[in-house]
Amino acid sequence: MTTQDHEIRLIDATRHFVTDYVMPNASRWERERALPHEAFKRAAAMGLTAIEVPVALGGMGCSFTTKAGIAELLATADFGFAMAIVNTQNVAKKFSDHPDFALGLLHLPDLIAADRIGCTALTEPDTGSDFAAITTLARASGDGWMISGEKAWITNATRADSIIAYVQTREVGDASGIAAFAIDGRRDGFRRGASSDPIGLHSNGSGGFTLKDYYARGDEMIGEPGEAFKSILLEINGARIYVAAMACGMMQSALDAACAYGSRRQSFGQALSGHQGWRWRLAEASSELAAAKALVASACRAFDAGEDVQCLAAQTKVMATRMAERHLPALTHAMGAEGLKMDQPFGRHLVGIQFCGLVDGSTEMLLERVARLIKPA
Ligand SMILES: Cc1cc2nc3c(=O)[nH]c(=O)nc-3n(C[C@H](O)[C@H](O)[C@H](O)COP(=O)(O)OP(=O)(O)OC[C@H]3O[C@@H](n4cnc5c(N)ncnc54)[C@H](O)[C@@H]3O)c2cc1C
Repeated sequence: MTTQDHEIRLIDATRHFVTDYVMPNASRWERERALPHEAFKRAAAMGLTAIEVPVALGGMGCSFTTKAGIAELLATADFGFAMAIVNTQNVAKKFSDHPDFALGLLHLPDLIAADRIGCTALTEPDTGSDFAAITTLARASGDGWMISGEKAWITNATRADSIIAYVQTREVGDASGIAAFAIDGRRDGFRRGASSDPIGLHSNGSGGFTLKDYYARGDEMIGEPGEAFKSILLEINGARIYVAAMACGMMQSALDAACAYGSRRQSFGQALSGHQGWRWRLAEASSELAAAKALVASACRAFDAGEDVQCLAAQTKVMATRMAERHLPALTHAMGAEGLKMDQPFGRHLVGIQFCGLVDGSTEMLLERVARLIKPA
């Protein structure tokens, strides 16, 4: 699949948006522990909340590869913000995939304009990796469903009101009973919880919510029991690939900053980059980053071509995350004390890479998946 002109323009515009707006503001967002709504509105005005939504429905009609490229660019400045935007676009895309789905189509223009923010909720206070063990329950009630339970650690939950929630319709532990519902955060029965209070990247807006006797109409079930579990496992392959791209984005920004600093900071009569012991660290980081980027590019191509990417997506996320986990602390160290300043991106990236290792399948869960799928060549 070749990148179309409108996709190239969107990527260029994102690059400017990151340099002119996200990068200069990210440390302030971190200090204030909040992302202003204006940041969403600016991203929406460019089309970033509807990257994959068809043009006929008001979106940008871009490929998955373009979405991953945009996520990577946003993450060079702020992984939390990048996830917040991509999660909203994912809800808009999901709603646009169901043209007969009344609530989704009602919310779609507001999501695209960032007058509503989106989130996708699987995780609960007592269950993360073991997704099949979720305890939020939906019970048939008249023509619809009565839903009760609690979700935790959800990107954007502190502000989202267009929510896709995965809930159990049968007995706890029965994966074939898990269904997906569109939840309207402005209706009775929805109560927003507090922020997850993470150690950093508050721009992500992660938090929780409680559903107590929340009534969902029958047509608000957007993934049938059984089918929803299978479809999230497929969708999550895409998420694994763009999170890997975001790990590469954080690494690229750290490497760029360290390269620039190394050529101007003097020690023992020469630039830091003049010392072999200093520059090899950057050379090693750049070599492994190049390998991770190549793997991300091939996973993106395979995803857009509709290939089965279950194993490749897991391998790509494990590889890119591990690469960045190894090199981001080393690049921070290469900056000396300068790397620890709030207005440098290193602190955000160090937290960001921890988030990467958990979201959309932790590294251990992905290694389990790869182990199950690898076959002799
Ligand atoms: C910033 C952030 C944003 C998030 N956004 C979302 C979101 O939008 N939607 C959503 O649904 N969730 C979201 N999550 C939750 C994320 O998906 C979970 O953190 C992840 O699934 C892991 O679950 P857990 O944190 O409960 O860890 P646990 O499942 O409790 O695991 C703890 C540790 O043990 C390891 N472990 C668990 N089981 C095994 C095993 N069998 N073998 C070996 N090791 C194992 C895990 O890999 C992990 O390292 C977010 C998390 C973060 C940090």
